[in-house]
Amino acid sequence: MIKKDVRSLSLEDLRAFFTDKGFQAFRGNQVYEWLWKKSITDIDQMTNISKEIRDSLKSEFVINNIEIDSVQKSTDGTIKNAIRLHDGLTVESVLIPTKTRMTACISSQVGCSLNCKFCATSRLKRMRNLNPDEIYDQVVTINNQCLEFHNKPLTNIVFMGMGEPLMNYNNVLKAISKITSPSGLGMSPKRIVVSTSGIPKMIKKMADDKVKFKLAVSLHSAIEKTRTSIMPFNEKFNLIELRDSLKYWYKNTKNRITYEYVVWEGINDKMEDVNALVEFCKFSPSKVNLIQYNSIDDPSFKQANNSAIALYMNVLEKNNITVTFRRSRGKDIDAACGQLANKSQ
Ligand code: SAH
Repeated sequence: MIKKDVRSLSLEDLRAFFTDKGFQAFRGNQVYEWLWKKSITDIDQMTNISKEIRDSLKSEFVINNIEIDSVQKSTDGTIKNAIRLHDGLTVESVLIPTKTRMTACISSQVGCSLNCKFCATSRLKRMRNLNPDEIYDQVVTINNQCLEFHNKPLTNIVFMGMGEPLMNYNNVLKAISKITSPSGLGMSPKRIVVSTSGIPKMIKKMADDKVKFKLAVSLHSAIEKTRTSIMPFNEKFNLIELRDSLKYWYKNTKNRITYEYVVWEGINDKMEDVNALVEFCKFSPSKVNLIQYNSIDDPSFKQANNSAIALYMNVLEKNNITVTFRRSRGKDIDAACGQLANKSQ
């Protein structure tokens, strides 16, 4: 019999499990606290639970915890973890320290089913979705590293690691609810960003679900033909639908939208590209993060020069759109945006 992960049980399930076995229901609360608040990795670590009760748990359940397979440290302080899952697959999670923030960059899938031409993760293909506890455990792991190496706790989480979070929506939502719950890590949802390549149906669903975290969209081009050439799924989920869904998001949440955008030479570095971007995002308060391109050894992509970046910055600012140019972190260890590809394997 393949035993189920005990962490797939809700608090109510755990309480019912114990009453069914003739134990007191509050044992469920104790176990729940060990599993989530204390993040133990072995049922025998529950020291206030008797051996008899632990054994009855162990006869039906396991804890499929994650393990750090390897840790790489960048000269800029960024730490990349290769994380081994219980079935032997690997994902990567990154800690990005700055003076004011400790940010965890978390994966939501093993590999990715989208086929963005400029992203190293797309070369892995999608192997499977991560479970809520596998997402949660990455956060706990990075939080521990913040405490160990920097003496301060994690402050921010971005779902910008491997995978498309909105293609694993239910599990990402469950993980975030544990991360933000007082019975879990108690972090504020305002400090969590979910980044999507833009799945319109799911963006509307997020608005309907009244989620409290922030939304970022990897846009990279607001011209249909250009976007389809670099992000082929745009053919199916086109810009018109994407913008519709973002309007719906803004109308229902009143939350500012962040766009991630890389400027490449000869692809999207012209005035018409900038104008299309302004036109696309001016319907709501928005922020454009211009991300530096991190090379993944494909000669068709080259970071645009400084004058193209300056053009974007000027035009966006003139149109009252907040814009930042983000320097890459962790490039020397392939931990930067779009470089997560399990290379160490
Ligand atoms: N699938 C989600 C989550 C991944 S986030 C999404 O697309 O948003 C990773 C971010 O890095 C995305 O904005 C992605 O477009 C960007 N990215 C991918 N490859 C990159 C590269 N080689 N250089 C810079 N940014 C890249």
